[in-house]
Amino acid sequence: MTTISYDCQAVLKSLDAYRNGELTSAETEAFAAHLAACRHCLCVEQHEQALLERLRATCRDCCPEALRQRILTLCDDPKCRGD
Ligand SMILES: [Zn+2]
Repeated sequence: MTTISYDCQAVLKSLDAYRNGELTSAETEAFAAHLAACRHCLCVEQHEQALLERLRATCRDCCPEALRQRILTLCDDPKCRGD
């Protein structure tokens, strides 16, 4: 059995698949393990989740890719990383 490991780039790319339940159970486990260990990715995930929820309620037609880019920019703020 291969051990799957996610780096930051892989995690950020797989956020949608993770949220949609499209990852295998091994992938989901590796993904969650990375989020638990990486404040940066956790921050992105939480920001994105919160924004998506707000967006879903107010603006169904916004472009998700543009939104993602904004969130990634927001999360480059050192305050957000907490270290
Ligand atoms: Zn990370």
